[in-house]
Amino acid sequence: MSAAALPASADVVVIGGGVAGTSVAYHLTKLGIRDVLLCERKQLTCGTTWHAAGLVTQLRATRQMTELAKYTGELFGRLEQETGQATGFQQRGSLRVANTPERYEELARGASMGRNFGLPVERMSPAEIRERWPPVNIDGIVGGFWFPNDGQVNPADVTMAYAKGARLGGARILEHTPVTRILVERGRAVGVMTGEGPVRARSVVVCGGMWSRELAAQAGVSLPLHAAEHFYVVTEPIAGLPRLPVLFLGDEWTYYKEDAGKLLVGFFEPVAKPWGQRGIADSFCFETLPEDVEHIAPYLEAATRRVPLLKQAGIQLFFNGPESFTPDDRYLLGETPEVRGLYCATGFNSVGILSSGGVGKALAEWIRDGRPPVELIDVDVRRMQPFQRNRRYLADRTVETLGLLFDMHWPARQFATARGVRRSPFHDRLLAAGAWMTEAAGFERPGFFAPGETAPQVRYSYGHPSWFAHTRAECRNTAEHVTLFDHSCFVKYGVEGVDAVRVLNRVCANDVDVAPGRVVYTQWLNEAGGIEADVTVTRLAEESFLVVTIAVSQVRDRSWLQRHIPDDARVYITDLTSGLPMLALMGPKSRALLQGLSQDDLGDAAFPFGTSREIEIGYARVRASRLTFVGELGYELYVPAEFAAHVFDAIVAAGAAHGLRQGGYFAINALRMEKGYRHWGHDIGEEDSPLQAGLSFAVAWDKPGGFIGREALLRQRSQGAAARRLVLLRLGGQEAPLVHHHEPIYRDGVLIGSVTSGAYGHRVDASLGMGYVTCADGVTDAWLAAGQLEVEVAWQRYPARAQLGAWYDPRNTRVRGA
Ligand SMILES: Cc1cc2nc3c(=O)[nH]c(=O)nc-3n(C[C@H](O)[C@H](O)[C@H](O)COP(=O)(O)OP(=O)(O)OC[C@H]3O[C@@H](n4cnc5c(N)ncnc54)[C@H](O)[C@@H]3O)c2cc1C
Repeated sequence: MSAAALPASADVVVIGGGVAGTSVAYHLTKLGIRDVLLCERKQLTCGTTWHAAGLVTQLRATRQMTELAKYTGELFGRLEQETGQATGFQQRGSLRVANTPERYEELARGASMGRNFGLPVERMSPAEIRERWPPVNIDGIVGGFWFPNDGQVNPADVTMAYAKGARLGGARILEHTPVTRILVERGRAVGVMTGEGPVRARSVVVCGGMWSRELAAQAGVSLPLHAAEHFYVVTEPIAGLPRLPVLFLGDEWTYYKEDAGKLLVGFFEPVAKPWGQRGIADSFCFETLPEDVEHIAPYLEAATRRVPLLKQAGIQLFFNGPESFTPDDRYLLGETPEVRGLYCATGFNSVGILSSGGVGKALAEWIRDGRPPVELIDVDVRRMQPFQRNRRYLADRTVETLGLLFDMHWPARQFATARGVRRSPFHDRLLAAGAWMTEAAGFERPGFFAPGETAPQVRYSYGHPSWFAHTRAECRNTAEHVTLFDHSCFVKYGVEGVDAVRVLNRVCANDVDVAPGRVVYTQWLNEAGGIEADVTVTRLAEESFLVVTIAVSQVRDRSWLQRHIPDDARVYITDLTSGLPMLALMGPKSRALLQGLSQDDLGDAAFPFGTSREIEIGYARVRASRLTFVGELGYELYVPAEFAAHVFDAIVAAGAAHGLRQGGYFAINALRMEKGYRHWGHDIGEEDSPLQAGLSFAVAWDKPGGFIGREALLRQRSQGAAARRLVLLRLGGQEAPLVHHHEPIYRDGVLIGSVTSGAYGHRVDASLGMGYVTCADGVTDAWLAAGQLEVEVAWQRYPARAQLGAWYDPRNTRVRGA
């Protein structure tokens, strides 16, 4: 179709004719949204899609990403028949192979996870691997796993099949139609400007691959992604080469795909080459990047040792093409927080083909309904921070992200590149005290302290990591004395105005219409009763509130609240995070320590749990809230930035007499696990209701005006004990492994649920976890105790116990600390 056929309007305009854009268009028409216009600046597939290797695997890092990939595989199985356009899909299976015991454990944990997600998986010995993949040299191979549902596809053909299906459904696809600008009015996308003129639209979708960041930035929208060079080689035809499944060798940074008697050997090298830092030329169309044989030589040599027939086979093609990578290796999906009606599906980190079907379907439903069809927190674009579209940051991070796809996915693994971006005012003091830093949303925060060491080194592990003893000391100190945590990365909003209480009370499930000085723990729910946010709300004054949430929710929670302010309401949100660092002082001696620095009465009667007030510390006045996230007596201290150093030094100086230590996030995670304190994004999220999560104590069922999600919760409550319920797990025995996420839970041999998070509990001395389990008659302590519970870790089952209440101090006597 020529650009002359440009319509004046469309229901939905999709920007970009790669695998993502065509899949979105196809799935929109499947939902009956036929008035779809797809604009492609040059030709379909001409960006990254045409040269992809076409591997179609299903097991991804999380359940959500796996579900989208699973659907893609199923769709590829029928797309050709449906559209009449060949896709080249072949379900040959894949082998994931380990050279080290650590990698084998990683694969085995992944295999258990896959089983949990309903994927067929089989364990393979080295001999069995060679049986399925005869050209491989199995020297040094420890073992592997076989995924029969995986396969391969021709990416250009599959894109053409999506496009054909979309056209058959009524969509219009215009090639040679660049979108020059996204049109925004009053915070809403209303169409696009093309080279041929404007097109009005109800929704606009950015599927512009590596061009997406700059296009969105013009509209004030952050889509943090950056291109990197991505390499593979293809051999000449090899006589007698059998039809082979896909083979992955993470330890050697290589994968192998057989197609038409040739081998494609692809690389995910540990140090990648960012590309396009100065922008990507408009003329780019079906282009390749210059070969860099030196760059891939070490991996190609390893491949030649692993598959000796490569020595004889000539290389027909040294391929190098660009692909987009995001700062956390997960793609960007959903409605942008900055502009309503503007959606994105982009930044695919080399999994765009295998994710395309699920992504297109989920996004089409999101556009139709105005909300995600299923929980997609892991890939939701609202997790990104505005600073992350900084180009130098992205380029530096991209050096690492490509290789991370194949590197070890250690628990608690931290990024090594583009660090030190956001630092609390205490940063240098923390380093001097021996902190080893982790990162959340770009914020540096201590993982643990190695007192006396200036640059502690770490060794990651699926078992006890090298910092285990340090974390243990911090946890025990918190139980016995007092520990200081830097919580500056917590996000704080001031919410003010005559209608603040009305708006907040509609958004919060708990009642925030309380006396000034009270702190309310609450969830924000969606209409289905799922948990969108987990926050504390402190009433500072009649019309003034302080909302505190976790670092990664900075953009998301603000956007949620802003979008729930009615047009006629007078409410103003101010992000105070940068000016209000936060310290937390936790442990039985926290009160005595603080009292020594303050003239105010901090006794339990004057300053009870769940209240907040301004107090003096040293020469400063700070807001102190009596709360805890570790299950001990404790205080959160909100310190205006210019007083931060003074308050910190005063606390540390006074602390010596009270056994003060500094603590990190690994300790916090362990301490919260013993108390069963839920973490949003892991233990609670969009598909978990407070009833299922065991948080109904924070629901004000009958407050005037109700709250969003109340009707759904009432329906659930009327059905009696929750059939799906978060429980706290404890694995038995000294040799019990640590659990992290997605491990299957069995009762009397039947799969009943899945772990959401885990840690070693140092106060109760056991490997602990949390997870949802299901029982049609309701999950109760009696039902849990009556069955034989097991958790599967790395393909092996371990005995476990589960209960609804906390393992540590279930009566909260320590928290009250009266
Ligand atoms: C070497 C290599 C191997 C790979 N192997 C695999 C694999 O085995 N499996 C897998 O799943 N993935 C693989 N990938 C990744 C996969 O190719 C990408 O994730 C996927 O193709 C991205 O699709 P896309 O639609 O987001 O981007 P693109 O294919 O780049 O499409 C974006 C389109 O938008 C158009 N566009 C941009 N701006 C505008 C504008 N302003 N107006 C109109 N149109 C615009 C562009 O011209 C382009 O056609 C590989 C990638 C590489 C480089």
